[in-house]
Amino acid sequence: MATSSTRRDPLAFVRPDLLQLPGYVGVEPVESIAARLRVPSDRIAKLDGNENPYGPSPRALAALRAFDAYHLYPDPDLRRLRERLAEYTGAPPESIVCGNGSDEIIQLLCTALLRPGEKAIDLPPTFGMYRFETEIAGGVSVPVPRRPDFSLDLDAVARAVDERVKLIFVTHPNNPTGNLLGEDELHALLDLGVLVAVDEAYIEFAGLERSFLPWIRQQPRLIVMRTFSKWAGLAGLRLGYAAMAPDLAAVLYRIRQPYGVNVAAEAAALAALDDRAILMARVAAIVAERERMFAALRAIPFLRPYPSHANFILCDVLRGDALALRDELRAEGVFVRHFDKPGLRDRLRISVGLRRHTDQLIDALGKAGARLGLL
Ligand code: PMP
Repeated sequence: MATSSTRRDPLAFVRPDLLQLPGYVGVEPVESIAARLRVPSDRIAKLDGNENPYGPSPRALAALRAFDAYHLYPDPDLRRLRERLAEYTGAPPESIVCGNGSDEIIQLLCTALLRPGEKAIDLPPTFGMYRFETEIAGGVSVPVPRRPDFSLDLDAVARAVDERVKLIFVTHPNNPTGNLLGEDELHALLDLGVLVAVDEAYIEFAGLERSFLPWIRQQPRLIVMRTFSKWAGLAGLRLGYAAMAPDLAAVLYRIRQPYGVNVAAEAAALAALDDRAILMARVAAIVAERERMFAALRAIPFLRPYPSHANFILCDVLRGDALALRDELRAEGVFVRHFDKPGLRDRLRISVGLRRHTDQLIDALGKAGARLGLL
């Protein structure tokens, strides 16, 4: 409560727990870093955001060009999109929730489930949004670190589950490690008796046949999240979705911003679903390039890449400082991701781009490695 002496300070009215939070560190726009470093924009390989280097599909671009109803609000129930997603996923429309990116679905889950002090477990190294949204919601994020091979420490997860835990976030394949969630692992998580949100943001690069989405029919405590950001190249338009028990989906629909998914995102997503052949051919090209990049990275003496099922590769930096290497690569116009977090400080995550981006990366690694004395 603000007292008379603090009444003029707007921060005195803010939730004290929020004032303590560090905030989510996203990627700085490449243009701003490039301008600072004076790197010409046509020399940039943007391999720091797990974005799709091919961009949106032709039909999505055509739909956006032809669209002329920007003056109208979106359908708050997103009927057409949910019906199309139901056909696409095989889940009933009433089990599907759409969001402004899958980030919004993560936020909705935290808002719906967590009272102050209640907990969500995540399994680091992993995507930072789970912890971020848990804490914004007033919940407590409980990290249960993975084992050295990035598999789940199921005993430790079981020990962490108490009556305050509502939800476990698990990523399939995981970001930034690139490994898959095993069927046995998911069974074990579901047996713990809390909700389990499987984040399949990168599943198309692993093969849709590996998706756990069909399991929602048998598993009422399972939520499976997906996005159009990666496989469909629509990261900037923000469209994610999730499938879950219809009763839970109805709750998320009641509390979501009614117009959170904008009309352009809806139009582009509908068109992308009609353009799956070309989009999945691009996914196949990215997967092929990932394997070429993996082989090239393995030949670099100061790096150890981990096999990946997604559109990025995590590498140990075996000599020198990973952050210094990231900065040297930037000076060569190559942008990769470093995370200042436990388990990741000696590593870099490199997104898979086009063939020429890989070539530029490998060339830049040679130059940066020589400058840093790593070779
Ligand atoms: N989940 C994971 C594992 C991710 O890596 C990302 C994007 N970085 C997201 C979700 C967020 O996706 P969206 O763009 O749909 O919000």
